[in-house]
Amino acid sequence: MTKLATLDDLLVHELQDLYDAEHQILKALPKMAKAASSDALRNAFQLHLKQTETQIGRLEQAFAALGKPAKGTKCDGMAGLIKEGSKMMAEDASPEVLDAALIAAAQKVEHYEIAGYGCVATYAQMLGRNEIRELLTQTLDEEEATDEKLTELAESLINVRAEHPGSFAR
Ligand code: FE
Ligand code: FE
Repeated sequence: MTKLATLDDLLVHELQDLYDAEHQILKALPKMAKAASSDALRNAFQLHLKQTETQIGRLEQAFAALGKPAKGTKCDGMAGLIKEGSKMMAEDASPEVLDAALIAAAQKVEHYEIAGYGCVATYAQMLGRNEIRELLTQTLDEEEATDEKLTELAESLINVRAEHPGSFAR
């Protein structure tokens, strides 16, 4: 059981949750890139893999600023989202449909991260830890930009479907 007496304790706990979540994403993204058929989608996953490495570094800087060891605590939320994504990849889906499903899985992951980073950035601000808030806001901006890019990719897949009727059919 974790003792959560203060907002500082909660900040550390939520950073540990995100630290574990980012490591899970780091392992999942190469598999998602491999499963993608669209070059643009594969590139987006590969770019986000690089960003995720940077984001892990920012969390390590935040732990250092708090004088805490960088460590994770099992993020069951992310484990569930990634499990759903892997189940989808194991289905007998056509390439276009699988791409759409990969985008949906990735957007659920981004939304989890946006919620998580939004909370810790707010806690850091409330605690007057602006250097930590700044680090977390940088990551929050990247997660939001990734989410928007995935929406654009989903729309472009739908355009492909409009130009090539039947490409989504079996
Ligand atoms: Fe991330
Ligand atoms: Fe992300």
